[in-house]
Amino acid sequence: MDNKHSIHMTIDEFKKNGYKVIDWIAEYYQNVDSLPVLSQARPGDIRGQLPDHPPEDGETFEAVLADMNEKILPGVTHWQSPNFFAFFPCNSTGPAILGDMLSTGLGVQGMLWATSPACTELETHVLDWLVDMLHLPEKFKSTSTGGGVIHDTASSAILCALLAAREKASNGKINETGFDGKLRVYTSNQAHSSIEKAVKITGIGKHNLRSITVDDEFAMRPSELRRAVEQDIRDGLTPAFVCATVGTTSSTALDPLTEIGNICSEFGIWLHVDAAMAGSAATCPEYRFIHEGLELAQSYCFNPHKFMLTNFDCSCFYVSNRDALIDSLSITPEYLKTKESKSNSVFDYRDWQIPLGRRFRSLKLWSVIRHYGIKGIQAHIRQHIGSAKALTEEINKDDRFELMAPTVLNLVCFRYKGSDEFNEALVQRLNDSGKLYLIHTKLNNKYTIRFSIGQTKTTWDHVIKAWKLILQETKTLEKNRIS
Ligand SMILES: *Cc1c(COP(=O)(O)O)cnc(C)c1O
Repeated sequence: MDNKHSIHMTIDEFKKNGYKVIDWIAEYYQNVDSLPVLSQARPGDIRGQLPDHPPEDGETFEAVLADMNEKILPGVTHWQSPNFFAFFPCNSTGPAILGDMLSTGLGVQGMLWATSPACTELETHVLDWLVDMLHLPEKFKSTSTGGGVIHDTASSAILCALLAAREKASNGKINETGFDGKLRVYTSNQAHSSIEKAVKITGIGKHNLRSITVDDEFAMRPSELRRAVEQDIRDGLTPAFVCATVGTTSSTALDPLTEIGNICSEFGIWLHVDAAMAGSAATCPEYRFIHEGLELAQSYCFNPHKFMLTNFDCSCFYVSNRDALIDSLSITPEYLKTKESKSNSVFDYRDWQIPLGRRFRSLKLWSVIRHYGIKGIQAHIRQHIGSAKALTEEINKDDRFELMAPTVLNLVCFRYKGSDEFNEALVQRLNDSGKLYLIHTKLNNKYTIRFSIGQTKTTWDHVIKAWKLILQETKTLEKNRIS
């Protein structure tokens, strides 16, 4: 075909535009700290600038890039700003972007081993590496009874863990005929909302999700878990699943895995450990205590797309017994039967997740681990946790403020000793300034400011500058006598 009249971008155009895109991204990273962190767009602002109809004739890629600057960027909240302290870290890095580009470039579907053997084998291998890097229990390795798989998010991982637990608790009945008993699920009242979502999706029902109370440090009380389980058994219900959290979203609380795991073992309950945010910290030996008792869990997940320098999406999900997971999710129509699958000599990852299709996500993770090495990842984690501890000391020095939870890792929870309204006004003023972005939570029913440290380019300088801004805005509010 004559290239000139092809509908496609030519190889030369692709190269030319590709270099421009890389330059655009590089410049974005160079300037991102000068942009207002929280987008100032109002609802409808972005759509209002877009044409009502798609173009009849194709346009140049230059036109797309021009619109990125004029129409899209104003509607972006800059998660990659070093002054982004909201939610949780959402690390993006050069090696991860490039690794992801390779994946996009190859454009493979890794649903079966046979549809791209490298997609499956690299993923299995990198996830085994991570078991060593984080000192996770050996049973999570593919060379043992378990194995790891990359999911889009921790929410998907929790849902798959619950599906496997549901199947096991019904003795394999649910997938065939449904189940006429009642399954019960337990998690702390600080657990992530994805558990409630999974309970709804699986049809177990919100009513069968028991919310267990927490101690002074917001960790699940094992005695309360035991009480709830024993009560349910007496009532003829089936305890099926416990989700313990290592690093809760509100305050990075650590549920006591050993005590919880012993209760689960005693009653034959599936234990899933959600370490979405905090898990990466275990790359450093001094933070491996967060996983104490993890050997009692049937499944585990953590998100390299939060705190391990890997672009969204990348959530590592491990099971100790892969057959239990595969039994609950495997279906094989004729067109998916391959000789390798039949011989049981390979993993077909479509049986480890909800969708059939899957991206080659391990390329970006592999690229990150090779670029930074274990030492580089450790340095990243240590720097941010160090900043969080140092900020905690600054807050401790000022008796107008109080800490609302221990600073376990990279999150600092505090408030101005005054009304909720004062604290709310403070956060509003800070976010309106565009100089940083913070969010709040409620701890012990009080408005609490969450200062989450861990973005790729955040340094102590950014943190201390933000703290000074907090002090300055506090002074202004005090003058206005809102207290
Ligand atoms: C972020 C987070 C989640 C949800 O993560 P997704 O990957 O976005 O689904 C779940 N649990 C905890 C503890 C988290 O920090």
